Amino acid sequence: MQIDLKGKTALVTASTAGIGLAIAEGLARAGARVVVNGRSDASVDAALARLRAAAPGATVDGVAADLSGPDGAARLTAAAPHADILVNNAGIYGLKPFFDIDDAEWEHYFQTNVMSGVRLARHYMKGMLERDWGRVVFISSESALNIPVDMIHYGFTKTAQLSIARGLAKLAAGSQVTVNAVLPGPTLSDGVRTMLQAVADKTGRSVDEVAVEFVRTHRASSILQRPATPDEVANMVVYACSPQASATTGAALRVDGGIVDTLA
Ligand code: NAD
Repeated sequence: MQIDLKGKTALVTASTAGIGLAIAEGLARAGARVVVNGRSDASVDAALARLRAAAPGATVDGVAADLSGPDGAARLTAAAPHADILVNNAGIYGLKPFFDIDDAEWEHYFQTNVMSGVRLARHYMKGMLERDWGRVVFISSESALNIPVDMIHYGFTKTAQLSIARGLAKLAAGSQVTVNAVLPGPTLSDGVRTMLQAVADKTGRSVDEVAVEFVRTHRASSILQRPATPDEVANMVVYACSPQASATTGAALRVDGGIVDTLA
């Protein structure tokens, strides 16, 4: 299968590192014009340099905007008013006991992980429906289904994304606009590497070794028995954004290594 996204503009949020950067690279390699986003000009410029090296000849632009509130979303849509493909990847996570999470932190998770995608879908989907072609992908998580007891606030936002993606898919019924959620399992992104670095430093092992042990002990239902790479997640997202995925909509597509122990 040859995925060709020439002539399409793709916006990937929070794409200066981790899964988002891998998705941006995959879409650029497939020929899309890609707009990357991060919080600072420096991180956006570094991501653009990496993309230009990885996908020579690709057209890539960037917008620095913090998507944890409405101002950042407005800045992004003003700077990049048009997209045929929207990947809502922005999301924060961290371990925290339920009794220590105050109202402000619940709100911050909701704004960053849920409302960022709502605001951008509200802006970009209108144009997609007018042109009768578009792809919207929400990067959710296996934590949407296996709610982690040490990250209930995170799991809640990831379940909310499934609900929104399904609803928006129905909103686009009969059109060539598809909306899907992708559910990665544990993925060795830059953010997860940073989280595991402290354990690696303490135990004298590599981050990769610590990550495999984390999956085997704390995510024991994983069939893969190792974390995924950002590229493995990006492959599913690029497919969901492709013309070939035209009959896949309203779906929750798993790249979770089999962690969620159900057949459907
Ligand atoms: P990461 O921490 O490696 O990268 C995060 C990127 O987001 C960085 O470029 C950072 O600058 C940017 N960012 C953070 N806050 C932002 C904000 N407010 N506005 C704009 N950009 C912002 O993250 P990751 O692990 O690649 O995760 C990406 C997505 O995948 C998230 O939605 C996460 O919930 C989801 N996910 C990750 C995993 C995993 O194991 N890594 C598993 C399931 C789902």
